[in-house]
Amino acid sequence: MDFSPIAEIFEDMYKTNSRLVLIDHLVTLFNRTPFIIIKKIIYLLQGKLSPAYEGVELGLGEKLTIKAIAESSGISVKEVEVKFGSVGDLGEVAKEIAKNKYQQTLIREKITIERIYSTFEKIAKSTGSQSQFIKLRLISSLLNDATPLESKYIIKFLLGTLRLGIAEYSIIDALAIAYTGNKNNRKKIEETYNVYTDLGTIAEILCKRNLEGLNQLQMTPLKPIRPMLAERILDPTEGLKKADGKIAFEYKLDGERVQIHKDDSEVQLFSRSLEKITKHYPDIVDSIKKFSIQNCILEAEIVPLDLETKRIQPFQELMHRKRKYNIENVIMKYPIKVFLFDILYLEGKDLTEYEYTKRRAILESTAKKNRNNSIEVVKQIVSSELKDIEIFFRNAKDDGCEGLMLKQLNSKYRAGAREFLWMKLKKEYDNTLGDNFDLTVIGALLGRGKRTGYYGALLLAVYDKNSDTFQSICKVGTGFSDRDLELIYNELKNYVVEKKYYNVNSNLKMDIWFTPKLVLEVIASEITLSPLHTAAYGLVQKNFGLALRFPKYSGRIRVDKKPEDSTNTSELIQLFNRQVKRNKL
Ligand code: AMP
Repeated sequence: MDFSPIAEIFEDMYKTNSRLVLIDHLVTLFNRTPFIIIKKIIYLLQGKLSPAYEGVELGLGEKLTIKAIAESSGISVKEVEVKFGSVGDLGEVAKEIAKNKYQQTLIREKITIERIYSTFEKIAKSTGSQSQFIKLRLISSLLNDATPLESKYIIKFLLGTLRLGIAEYSIIDALAIAYTGNKNNRKKIEETYNVYTDLGTIAEILCKRNLEGLNQLQMTPLKPIRPMLAERILDPTEGLKKADGKIAFEYKLDGERVQIHKDDSEVQLFSRSLEKITKHYPDIVDSIKKFSIQNCILEAEIVPLDLETKRIQPFQELMHRKRKYNIENVIMKYPIKVFLFDILYLEGKDLTEYEYTKRRAILESTAKKNRNNSIEVVKQIVSSELKDIEIFFRNAKDDGCEGLMLKQLNSKYRAGAREFLWMKLKKEYDNTLGDNFDLTVIGALLGRGKRTGYYGALLLAVYDKNSDTFQSICKVGTGFSDRDLELIYNELKNYVVEKKYYNVNSNLKMDIWFTPKLVLEVIASEITLSPLHTAAYGLVQKNFGLALRFPKYSGRIRVDKKPEDSTNTSELIQLFNRQVKRNKL
């Protein structure tokens, strides 16, 4: 299939401000795409070569890309760099340069999706001393034949800056419309996607007009499922009310959530956002390999330990595990512990329909049979007595936990769902001063004085699932160290867009707008009504949205969260209502 019309649709999507128009473009694209390449198109839209969980990284550096643009167009590296300096986007630079060259080239081989894919695959696979050279050749040969617009998107893809920002929800909507003629079928598609997170394969089945065919896609070890999420509550009584009696209280550890998959001798680990993190934790892999189990899917929190005292350390210490080299050394210096909290699959059987009590019993007996010093089942009590809970909560805090998780005893495992079946109670609940929020950065003001060259303040947003929009809730300018400012600036510069992004909803004037990508944790003392901010606009009071008072960056970038996992509007409204209630007491 020719890439040129697809590059044009990408360009249209890039320009639009409206989610509905974006979905229309996607529907057109899907209707034009033949079965044999629909899978590739879907991955391309997700900015990948295969499902994210397979962890195939293209991620080409800017330097090499600049070299390739220079080589294919016959201009110097210096010139490309200068243009890059003034335009700020290498895709645009490639497009501009190709405009001059394209008319002069007479013989060209067509750029097809198939060709792009096989080239990208070769790039991803090439390693070793010759790899830079080989990659350069491969990219130049593509660029030699590409139209200006094709060049732009080839470069954006190679750099990992395609960022059409298409939320999976929008792709799912478009698949439902294009292949089933009915948007309501999105629900069935989403349910499948929750347990079978390869949207490419889902699209292939739908492309054959076979909605029922989705039933064959079931939970499989080595393919991550979307994690079950928790609603926030402010005190244990609220949790007990929801549960109507006894409930399981568990330590809430603050580390990295992991899905552990074992299938025969293969073990893979996946993060909360379903990325493969196996290579960061070879010690866990070794331990799980020794389990006398054929296949299983476990869920756990990994936490860092102090080398000497073996006490739980702040989650930041896990950063050492993200190193590419010398991991053996790092394992020795930075020990970790795995706290298991659920089991979803065992010996060929899907356990997600079992009640939580039954899953927990299976988890405990599995852990007992496969004893290991660095793997433990998370501490739990089952109770309805406030007195027991207070003691348990205090112990949790003393042991370095972030708070408690509450789980309804009869709850099934609902992949991808955030409901009151699981609830989180953070330790701030007993001091009314602060609450934390995970917010997506949507805009910025340029810094002045000491902050010249960085951003002075960031505009942050909550996520509203109903409208798939990011709604502004506060500007934050405090809590940043110099290092944070630099780190955040460098990360955000990849997401700059010319104008307010199509699913960003804000009335404020900003110097810079971003594709919603980066999630930061913020602490704030209070939620207030605001005529300016659009968070939950009109839902609590007519003509008012909600805003955070005295927000402060906590120092934590939530790399484990996607923007759609930010604090959402219904959570915010609940917190606001509870605050109102508390203030009346
Ligand atoms: P939050 O990230 O604040 O939405 O809180 C939910 C997270 O708490 C989960 O995604 C897990 O990473 C983590 N967690 C820690 N302990 C537990 C536990 N016992 N059960 C479930 N999740 C836990």
